[in-house]
Amino acid sequence: MPGSFKTQAVVLRSIRYGEADRVLHLYSAARGRLGAIAKGSRKPRSRFGGRLEPFFRLDMVLHEGRGDLATVTGVHTVDAYPNLRSSGPALSAAARGCDAVLRLLDSAEANPAAYNLLCRYLALLDGQEDVNGALETDGAAGLATALAFRLKLALSAGFAPELTACSRCGEADGLTAFSGAAGGVVCGACERDGFEMSAEAHRFMLDALGRPLAQAPVATNGALRMAERAITTTLEHHAHVQLRAAA
Ligand SMILES: [Zn+2]
Repeated sequence: MPGSFKTQAVVLRSIRYGEADRVLHLYSAARGRLGAIAKGSRKPRSRFGGRLEPFFRLDMVLHEGRGDLATVTGVHTVDAYPNLRSSGPALSAAARGCDAVLRLLDSAEANPAAYNLLCRYLALLDGQEDVNGALETDGAAGLATALAFRLKLALSAGFAPELTACSRCGEADGLTAFSGAAGGVVCGACERDGFEMSAEAHRFMLDALGRPLAQAPVATNGALRMAERAITTTLEHHAHVQLRAAA
């Protein structure tokens, strides 16, 4: 139904369009994924200022017409994450995180868990929270936190890997491998199409899902890469999306 609506949203991608406009890929609190056009936003004295750049968290007023794109009519900054913008590793981590949201969450439905997780990750990368766990050793922009974000994002999208029992036969012991096709850990008898998974990598994934993002568990690089492969193959098989490398 045509008309105006308000929502908070994070800019995932901002593309120059035509002479002076921008097309925005947004992840919104009220409606999930949203495409919008900001007319005249690249003119020098645009009332939108510099707010329509990636990673800005905004209060927006949008007008919905007949087209696919809503039109931006009002914008107020909730958080610009200025520290994130002055750090190369944080910018790169934010870009990969937003790219994962773009690929995994394409539904135009509110998903508060996914929206709050994205805002929390940007705040961590901006240095807004006290550090704990992997943040102390690895930093907010490190691989452990990036993978914890991906696991939680997969959970919010309904694609979290099965980690507590063999995803083929239900056996709770001897979980030595992971199968993306099966969507989780597998036991020795069921590991035919899986890859070996260390106890450390398995523990990392369980702990990462069980703890707040600011307390991502510490793990060796080898275990983290195993966990990354587990997340990536699960999403390939079950969500049919291919994520970029996490770091
Ligand atoms: Zn099994």
